[in-house]
Amino acid sequence: MSEPSPMSSNDTPAEEAAAVGQGDRAMSIDVVSIFPEYLAGLQLSLIGKAVERGQLGLNVHDLRDFTFDRHNTVDDSPYGGGAGMVMKAEPWALALEHILAGRPAGEAKPTLIVPSPAGEVFDQRIAEDLASRQHLVFACGRYEGIDQRVIDWAGERFELRPMSIGDYVLNGGEVASMVMIEAISRLIPGVIGNPESLTEESHEDGLLEYPIFTKPASWRGRDVPEILLSGNHAAIARWRRDRRLEKTAEVRPDLLARLTDLSGEDLAALERFESERGTVTE
Ligand code: SAM
Repeated sequence: MSEPSPMSSNDTPAEEAAAVGQGDRAMSIDVVSIFPEYLAGLQLSLIGKAVERGQLGLNVHDLRDFTFDRHNTVDDSPYGGGAGMVMKAEPWALALEHILAGRPAGEAKPTLIVPSPAGEVFDQRIAEDLASRQHLVFACGRYEGIDQRVIDWAGERFELRPMSIGDYVLNGGEVASMVMIEAISRLIPGVIGNPESLTEESHEDGLLEYPIFTKPASWRGRDVPEILLSGNHAAIARWRRDRRLEKTAEVRPDLLARLTDLSGEDLAALERFESERGTVTE
């Protein structure tokens, strides 16, 4: 069996690890796929830089490296009949055992994320929770999915999280894994240069983001809202909060209904939007 080549190795030089800073810690991510090239996009931008800096260890494994026949077979026809092929249990067990064997002594049980349209729906709360883990493993299914027995087997060795990125069906787990890896890893302290940029984002506290603008102040006859040029920080903060409430009420009332900590000012603003909307539609 050939040694799967890591996209970037975990063993960062000490000086690079030191540059990560006090309190920051490296998370290790393994991805198993029959299309390792799919994951190449993770080498770019902020995630790629986090890997270079040693804040994130990212290893991509080719499932076919864990097969022994001439054709590197990873799938077979389903028992009970039906369309499509099913991924065989043994290559998956060998790949996952390889990952387990390579983890540092004393590491907690890794979390195995199995992308599946039948999984729990991934959201920002789950991303925040998973960002606290030491070691995540993503098992990218293809065809009709993976033999259930190896998923059950893995559930005894990993913290098992079957995870959907939404109510639609993709061809494979690679894109879903990339979505989750990006959402999770940007929450690791130090990955995003300015941590403040995480605080008022959509979904961070259950509200969507306020509208944003940059120079010039007037563009093709459209002006930036006056208040943003005022320098009055308190008034700007209230304006932004109101826009977040308004947008969420308009686009995602389901999110708003879940919020239990709205202030008196928030509730008054929502009532105002509601009556303004009523006036417009009358
Ligand atoms: N037969 C499966 C079903 O009906 O639930 C669908 C298999 S799908 C064609 C192949 C693979 O794509 C899945 O094993 C999973 O890895 C991935 N996938 C498809 N849709 C997904 C979604 N919404 N979220 C996460 N992964 C998905």
